[in-house]
Amino acid sequence: MEEEGIPSERIMKELEERTRYDYTYDSGRILGSMISKPHKFAVEVYNKYLERNLGDPGLCPGVTELEKEAIMLIGSLLHHPNATGNIVTGGTEANLMAMAIARNMRNDVSKPSIVMPKSAHVSFDKASCLLRLRKVKVGLDNRFKMNVTELRKSITKDTVAIIAVAGTTALGVVDPIEEISEVAEENNIYLHVDAAFGGFMLPFLNEIGYETPRFDFSLRGVSSITTDPHKMGFCPIPSGGILFRKKNYTKYNSVKVPYLAGGITTQGTIVGTRSGASACAVWALLRHLGRKGFRDIVKHCMSLTDYLAEKIKYLEGVELTIPPTLNIIGIRSKEHDIRSIWKKLREKRWAVGGLKESLRIVVLPHIQREHIDAFLGDLQSVLRELRT
Ligand code: PLP
Repeated sequence: MEEEGIPSERIMKELEERTRYDYTYDSGRILGSMISKPHKFAVEVYNKYLERNLGDPGLCPGVTELEKEAIMLIGSLLHHPNATGNIVTGGTEANLMAMAIARNMRNDVSKPSIVMPKSAHVSFDKASCLLRLRKVKVGLDNRFKMNVTELRKSITKDTVAIIAVAGTTALGVVDPIEEISEVAEENNIYLHVDAAFGGFMLPFLNEIGYETPRFDFSLRGVSSITTDPHKMGFCPIPSGGILFRKKNYTKYNSVKVPYLAGGITTQGTIVGTRSGASACAVWALLRHLGRKGFRDIVKHCMSLTDYLAEKIKYLEGVELTIPPTLNIIGIRSKEHDIRSIWKKLREKRWAVGGLKESLRIVVLPHIQREHIDAFLGDLQSVLRELRT
């Protein structure tokens, strides 16, 4: 570190230089991320309230109220306007909190385990590692949804939580949560729904006439839901959402913090100092866009998704893994190694998701028709190159 500080203009210039080759949403080249460019108004709000710290709520009673209201607004989309919860750092923190609560609720179990579909996000592997939870992974049916017969067989006296996904990371598939909820109720087991991606998509898809499966608190067995404003909610990173059915759940993961300037508090979030700006941005953007604003964005994403899915059908050497449920498309190939396709697309500066068995395209609002057409052109030449 230098002895004398460097003028800010020089630093800014260097920053610009150093990040020149980073991918940007504006370029339309990020086709495989669950994050989009944050909405301008959310960024304005975020910047204005940057200094607010929800880790010390006594210093910001106003923002503390706004966080509660943001959770209630999200809850109203999920059939539970009185839900309790937090705006957290993302889906990973939200899922960790739910798993900690599910485990701590059960003091009758010495070797706790969690049962999840094979398609569950890696954050549950982290939860298993950090919280010493044994993982039981349930197979998928031919539509890539959790196999409920196998789920029933996987439950034991040590099962402290069932996890279901509403919008899987790879394919955007929604597990049969109505049935899973019944299994959870019959066995009196905590059910966590990971709707990190689908939570801000499914309610609006339903409103624009798509047939969508039930996945939320309208199902009695659902105990908690992750839904991330920094994914399909277009808020700045970090903003995840965790919602609990009952207020008293949080006593199972909360600790007292005695040293704060704002007075003694309890914290159930994993991080201590945390962004009040995120909560303000979520609250503000939900109110600013309203249901109609979200419906319009969802319509844009779905019409481009359907367009891309249709075009993929005519490409030689690749196929859709399944017809898309949400704005996520899986592309697989019987002819070519997926990694080779991914690498060649990367050389052409396309950032798509590269899983072992499929490419992943997530059609977000920063993507326009001309980006899809340019991508399809390049994908076609990559496939041609691979054939020769
Ligand atoms: N859950 C699902 C279904 C996801 O797809 C992701 C991320 O892609 C997460 C959780 C984790 O979210 P984050 O990266 O915000 O921690």
